[in-house]
Amino acid sequence: MAVFATPKDMQAWSIATRAAGKTIAMVPTMGALHDGHLTLARFAKSKADTVVLSIFVNPLQFNSSADFSAYPRPIDADLDMCRAEGIIDAVYAPTAAAMYPPMFQTHVEPGLLASKLEGEHRPGHFRGVTTVVTKLLNAAKPDVAIFGQKDFQQLAVVRRMAADLDMGVEIVGMPTVREEDGLAMSSRNRRLTPEQRAAAVCISKGLFAAREACAAGEKGAEALAALAAKSVASEPLARLEYVEVVDPDTLEKVHYVVPNKACILVAAWFGDVRLIDNMVVG
Ligand code: AMP
Repeated sequence: MAVFATPKDMQAWSIATRAAGKTIAMVPTMGALHDGHLTLARFAKSKADTVVLSIFVNPLQFNSSADFSAYPRPIDADLDMCRAEGIIDAVYAPTAAAMYPPMFQTHVEPGLLASKLEGEHRPGHFRGVTTVVTKLLNAAKPDVAIFGQKDFQQLAVVRRMAADLDMGVEIVGMPTVREEDGLAMSSRNRRLTPEQRAAAVCISKGLFAAREACAAGEKGAEALAALAAKSVASEPLARLEYVEVVDPDTLEKVHYVVPNKACILVAAWFGDVRLIDNMVVG
């Protein structure tokens, strides 16, 4: 498994790989790898001849410096996990200095899809995401890039960007991988105390309750949102930031699930750890 630290080295490998007639699938991550990430990598292997996994904690997408500093960075353990998986051809782990040298000043500005939900609560977040994803794709030159539905809005924003900017890369979304109790796997979960970890299941419990209610006939967005919110509110260690029911394509708020599907998105805090999750219903 090759490991690259600069865009130049990553590009040289990708150009040689493509020249050899091989396709490339990419899995962009911020590291602190878990089975959610590895599931994307395994799927990537089924989509292309070679797999590149990137690990970069992107300062541009953090709107809190405390959150950026506290983000876990177990790079040696991550590389061991990638090697053990046996299907990852290259890890691209650039330094911040290589990604953002002193004169760096060009950004990719996302549109309306990025303005609501996470965009409203984390100003500038998606501009950081679209900029870094563009840079990662330009370095690894993949035919296909895999993203998780765990970050539902991110997937929508990246998909839009790739289409709008004619990037020539297929963007594929993969279902959320969960812990046994239902909590969505996330690198941020490792920052939870055991008590907060136990409490955090209230998010997925609420989402599953809403999904069941929807399947049983409840199509009102307000009622479904209330079910998700109630589960979080019942947990003393949790603080709900938002719950919204939106059209999965436009991310516009909906009043009813029918005739289309809807996506319920939740953000909640456990101490200073912010978690997000979502569920498509209908
Ligand atoms: P992150 O390292 O959190 O930025 O995530 C890197 C990629 O993995 C993103 O496309 C995420 O949506 C995806 N991802 C993160 N957690 C999960 C999960 N539990 N299940 C599936 N994909 C995930």
